[in-house]
Amino acid sequence: AYEPAKRLSRMRVSIETALVGVRMVLGILDMPESQAEARDARPLKPGRGALEMRGVTFGYGAAPVVRNLDLLFSAGQTSALVGPSGGGKSTILNLAMRLYEPSEGEVLIDGQDLAGATLSSVRQRISFVGQNTFLFSTSVRENIRMARSDATDAEVEAAAQDANAHTFVSELPQGYETMVGENGSFLSGGQRQRLAIARAILKRSDIMLFDEATSALDSHSEALIQEALARVTRDKTTVVIAHRLSTILGADQIIYVEEGRVVERGTLRDLLAADGPFRRLYDRQFGVAEPAPIALAEAAE
Ligand code: ADP
Ligand code: MG
Repeated sequence: AYEPAKRLSRMRVSIETALVGVRMVLGILDMPESQAEARDARPLKPGRGALEMRGVTFGYGAAPVVRNLDLLFSAGQTSALVGPSGGGKSTILNLAMRLYEPSEGEVLIDGQDLAGATLSSVRQRISFVGQNTFLFSTSVRENIRMARSDATDAEVEAAAQDANAHTFVSELPQGYETMVGENGSFLSGGQRQRLAIARAILKRSDIMLFDEATSALDSHSEALIQEALARVTRDKTTVVIAHRLSTILGADQIIYVEEGRVVERGTLRDLLAADGPFRRLYDRQFGVAEPAPIALAEAAE
């Protein structure tokens, strides 16, 4: 039994060596391929994390996907992007992370155009949680710590607490040392998402983006994550894309996007009163005769 164990421990060393490299690109963890940066690019100066788009037009090919967009995600506020599939919601987040650059207009963080900023400084300011969590075949602890390699064990565990992950992690055979398997295959979808959120929390960035982060989950897992998110995003600039409207009822503003344009924006109350496309979406999801969700949102105010 000794030989395989020795081989395993050697394997572990090589995994850890690989992780050093992984941590170096940590800013782009959970984020797809990125743009090249300008030769004279400068790091973003720190700020409160206001995110803005001014006259942004962009398409992946010849046809524009978003057109002349003006958006303000105020520092510390939660905004929800809603609207039909293919309307451009994910594209807006892609532009915010500078995975793509607008063909016209500017994307700004705290008034600074991302076009002139270093990619690493942009990525540092933003946490992203999407529908698919990227986990490495290592321990729970190391998977969370990837967000900030100098984080202590206590900080890792505090982030897990905040993400409602600590309880399930503690119940795993080796707790935080449990290996998660190839891309987290030993964990459930809800558990993987909570680790992704723990990572986002540990990163301590002031802008947090969530793209259908809970859409694939059952409602129990979603509720656990929802509760964690409400707590964690309180003082962050947060943008949430969610198919289930129950997820976004507490947002400070709701932006309805269709065919790459903002059709409506306002508070839940504004948009329900406006009786436009958002109202129709809302009625479709909750049923016209069901007042509970509005009452819920008001109770949360
Ligand atoms: P939403 O998130 O609102 O569903 P998306 O931003 O994903 O909308 O998509 C907007 C449009 O852009 C769609 O027509 C989609 O097919 C297209 N699109 C999205 N991502 C890409 C991509 N990587 N390459 C080419 N087209 C894309
Ligand atoms: Mg999308």
